[in-house]
Amino acid sequence: MDELRLKAMAKINLGLDVVRKREDGYHDLRMIMQSVYLYDQIELVKTEERSIRVSTNLNFLPTGEDNLVYKAAKLLMDEFEIRQGVTISLKKCIPVAAGLAGGSSDAAAVLVGVNRMFQLGLSKKDLMERGVKIGADVPYCIMRGTALAEGIGDVLTRLPDAPDAFVVLAKPPIHVSTAFVYGNLKAGQLESHPDIDAQVQAIRAGDLHQMASLMGNVLETVTIPQYPVISDIKKCMMDCGAVGAMMSGSGPTVFGLFDEEQKAKAAYESLNGNGMAKQVFLTKFFHNNNASV
Ligand code: ATP
Repeated sequence: MDELRLKAMAKINLGLDVVRKREDGYHDLRMIMQSVYLYDQIELVKTEERSIRVSTNLNFLPTGEDNLVYKAAKLLMDEFEIRQGVTISLKKCIPVAAGLAGGSSDAAAVLVGVNRMFQLGLSKKDLMERGVKIGADVPYCIMRGTALAEGIGDVLTRLPDAPDAFVVLAKPPIHVSTAFVYGNLKAGQLESHPDIDAQVQAIRAGDLHQMASLMGNVLETVTIPQYPVISDIKKCMMDCGAVGAMMSGSGPTVFGLFDEEQKAKAAYESLNGNGMAKQVFLTKFFHNNNASV
């Protein structure tokens, strides 16, 4: 197989709790992860020359060793001493630095692709063990679907598919660095925590409304006071009939869940026209069983 096309799915967090700050500076998290059908397209082509070449449609992204797809290919090609090379064309659709794990998902897709292309024989578990060296979200991005993520995000428990919903994603025109958000989080002084266990139960019961009512992201305590537009977008989603609306990851993207397509369309149109968001998407959850990708 000399060419491969892959889809790297975005993720949202249906719940995000920070349990504590660890001595090594990382935070112990409890998160419910969900893939959404918004993806980057990746094309791998095998080359005879022993090199890794990256191109992308976004001119501000690195194309060398700093791109996560480069790191992913290099990790496997070094370990298995592959004598050939690969070109990686990356077409980004997932907003960058948005809380949607776009870069991690690209890296995950390249690990899966290089394993397949060079017939390395690694299992999903083997790939996940290697993926964490690139980023804490990479193992989840290999697993995809609905999952509980603990530790720094790499200790994963697969959950049944979350009950289906229409999803509107809206990224405001601001940049929020993940380091800033975690750096300013007062993990020991949080007044409330989302009930992640109850949310897992709601997912197991297939109860969308209960699952949505339990949504919570403690990182909003840092981002919303600084960037009130996040709260404005949530309100807009709720006014359009969302069953729940929340910031994903460390933001700034906000997602709304809807039980009817008409309501989701109304939110999509409203957010597209009111200047709160720079990029708006209307999509659905992605489950592993609709995967030919
Ligand atoms: P997370 O939800 O895991 O915090 P994110 O959505 O905040 O992820 P990404 O879009 O994954 O952030 O990328 C963050 C940074 O990583 C960007 O500033 C970018 O320069 C760098 N980067 C490296 N490789 C990639 C890639 N393939 N796609 C996007 N960003 C990349």
